[in-house]
Amino acid sequence: GRNKNEQCWVRYEQHKSENVKKRFELAGELQTAIDNDDLELFHQPQINLKTGVVQGSELLLRWNHSDLGYVSPERIIDIAEETGTIHHLTEWVITQGLSQHAKLYRLGFEHTISINLSSKDLTDNGLIAHILTTVAEYVIPPKTIVFELTESATTNDPEMAKSVITELHQQGYKIAIDDFGTGYSNLDYLSQLPFDMLKIDRSFMNLAMSKRNNMITEMTIALGRRLGVSVVAEGVETHEVAEILNNFYCPVAQGYLYAKPMAFIDYMRWLQKKPK
Ligand code: C2E
Ligand code: CA
Ligand code: CA
Ligand code: CA
Repeated sequence: GRNKNEQCWVRYEQHKSENVKKRFELAGELQTAIDNDDLELFHQPQINLKTGVVQGSELLLRWNHSDLGYVSPERIIDIAEETGTIHHLTEWVITQGLSQHAKLYRLGFEHTISINLSSKDLTDNGLIAHILTTVAEYVIPPKTIVFELTESATTNDPEMAKSVITELHQQGYKIAIDDFGTGYSNLDYLSQLPFDMLKIDRSFMNLAMSKRNNMITEMTIALGRRLGVSVVAEGVETHEVAEILNNFYCPVAQGYLYAKPMAFIDYMRWLQKKPK
């Protein structure tokens, strides 16, 4: 028989190949899901802290797989990036998202729409063309469209990423730095790229508990004000935190306190119930 090490190795290899097979299958099904519009875009509102008025929403990807159940957006993006489906997926998000945005606009909701981009999207030669064509089709002002990028957005191809971001910004689209304060946090990034908004990561939102995060948040809001950009606090769950943020003059908040991400139809109902 095999010795223990060999057995472990065989088990490891089986496990690994199963994983690869599973991911490969999932990638194929993702492609089919995109083609069949089986994916869904949820909306999470962003609220003006002072007035309580909704100013826009962020699009968040949802996939309810018939066998696997809920697949998290992180997993979807991970698989899409690994298998090269990401460009296709992001084009789908942009097309669907902007069509929903246009619908809201026609109903009189002059909101912003925020779209998450992965760092791989910034290596796509066709991205800008797809955005421009879709925006022209739906006749929506570019300044109402926000692209959210994490601070690692430029890691794949810095030169190309920079030129895509600069081009979008010149065309009048808004750029938001997502998850600010986490990951490849560096101020060099802030000094090199045009942006209009900072989103403070939700890991800082234990403001009532952590003096340190409290100070970091206050400083980030002040930095945004000094730079002349908007600041959105993510993951606001309690009135207490909202009040602290308001005392720091944080302009915008997003989180479960106001609403969880909702399917488009539910979001429209939610908006219509709110006093404008
Ligand atoms: P993100 O862009 O940082 O999105 C915010 C996440 O925080 C969302 O998770 C949202 O549901 C969650 N969230 C919002 N408010 C609260 C709160 O008060 N408490 C807590 N605990 N969580 C809150 P979600 O929807 O699971 O998305 C996870 C990540 O997946 C996103 O993080 C984003 O990086 C990525 N993602 C989602 N949709 C897309 C997409 O269409 N394209 C790309 N490239 N990435 C996407
Ligand atoms: Ca985001
Ligand atoms: Ca975020
Ligand atoms: Ca995040």
